[in-house]
Amino acid sequence: MSKMSSKAFKACIKCKALVPSETEICPVCGSKEFSTEWSGIVIVLDPDKSMVAKLLGIKTPGRYAIKVGA
Ligand SMILES: [Zn+2]
Repeated sequence: MSKMSSKAFKACIKCKALVPSETEICPVCGSKEFSTEWSGIVIVLDPDKSMVAKLLGIKTPGRYAIKVGA
């Protein structure tokens, strides 16, 4: 299992999607606001079947931070 550095990724403030730090526009919600202060990673493959996705309000498959913000 590879370890992801919080420096290599940033989290969308709106939808919590984790994107590479050079990304300018969130591919999930189109927001341009990101935070490098995030913790926890959840990978959602099937939002309809994922309890975590439901809890976090995730509707699009992808990689998300569990907590965004300091
Ligand atoms: Zn987003």
